Amino acid sequence: MIAPGGTIGILGGGQLGRMIAMAAAQMGYRCHVYAPDRESVAAEVSAAFTCAPWTDEAALSDFAAACDVVTWEFENVPVGPLSAIEPLLAPHPRALETAQDRLSEKRFVESLGGTPAAYAPVDTAEELAEAIDRIGAPGILKTRRDGYDGKGQWRIGSARDAEAIRLPQAPTIYEGFVEFAAEFSVILVRGRDGEVRFWDSAENAHVGGVLATSTLPPGDTVTAQVPAARELAAKVAGALGYVGVMTCEFFATAEGPVFNEMAPRVHNSGHWTIEGAATSQFENHVRAICGLPLGDTATIAAQVVMSNLIGEDAASAHECLADPGAHLHLYGKRQARDGRKMGHVTRIAAR
Ligand code: AMP
Repeated sequence: MIAPGGTIGILGGGQLGRMIAMAAAQMGYRCHVYAPDRESVAAEVSAAFTCAPWTDEAALSDFAAACDVVTWEFENVPVGPLSAIEPLLAPHPRALETAQDRLSEKRFVESLGGTPAAYAPVDTAEELAEAIDRIGAPGILKTRRDGYDGKGQWRIGSARDAEAIRLPQAPTIYEGFVEFAAEFSVILVRGRDGEVRFWDSAENAHVGGVLATSTLPPGDTVTAQVPAARELAAKVAGALGYVGVMTCEFFATAEGPVFNEMAPRVHNSGHWTIEGAATSQFENHVRAICGLPLGDTATIAAQVVMSNLIGEDAASAHECLADPGAHLHLYGKRQARDGRKMGHVTRIAAR
């Protein structure tokens, strides 16, 4: 167990790290952020900051020497340099390795009995044509690595669209378009002893590939599919020997839950847990990686809606506070670029 007063290292300097650090501070831990960008909204609320490239092994080992445990908030941290600090890492970096490549992630989930969208790896124009021929269109071409928030994705309406596409200089995967009734996520926490707890699943709405809202309770279609999705998510976490908070995103379809992707970390669709659950995803992540007992994940409100504040939305965000059930979270980012997540608002209706 890492007792309060210890130091938690966080790889990545964004808002997820900021909220982990705030939960950790509440429990008496110090956080030390490691990130390559000088501007870090996580470092602003942490005790220490190492600003260095992911590949700087000397900086990484000095950072690790100052920490009792190291976690991450950013899932594209290169795995190679982490091997030197592996004993300190929670979760184990095999979770990063699996989730960083959409192809290995889908194969892994299939091996556990999960169903992803029909897919094919694509490296050339011929392979894309073959994939569309076999899977059909519409579909989505995605880079296998480094995509997030709808970046590195191209909608393909027909085989003719595909001819006009210039493939990126990186491996891609073609996915058939899933006709879904709704999207939802399963967020779980797994302790060092293997205990698993789930939060209630929110129904998620995306705009342009970016999460817009997470709503609880979800509709009936999602509710009916949560048990099967939980079963798969728990298998994924167990097979990875996972410690901490992990998220799996699903499409609710007429054929049951279709696995979209996993995030080996706390997740935007779990921000509602700060006010809406007995224990937030951030607090339980800290508890799990520090070997403390897990907190109750029960929902404590009748209704919860989390809305992301994207780009310029943040400028007038404080106006939401006229509603006494609204909780504003601003991440302290200086520039409100288009599509950038600047904060979120959680609206709670009490039981
Ligand atoms: P991703 O980054 O892969 O999670 O994609 C972001 C969002 O794009 C998803 O949450 C869906 O709304 C949409 N999307 C991605 N892949 C598919 C698919 N195969 N079929 C339908 N919608 C998709």
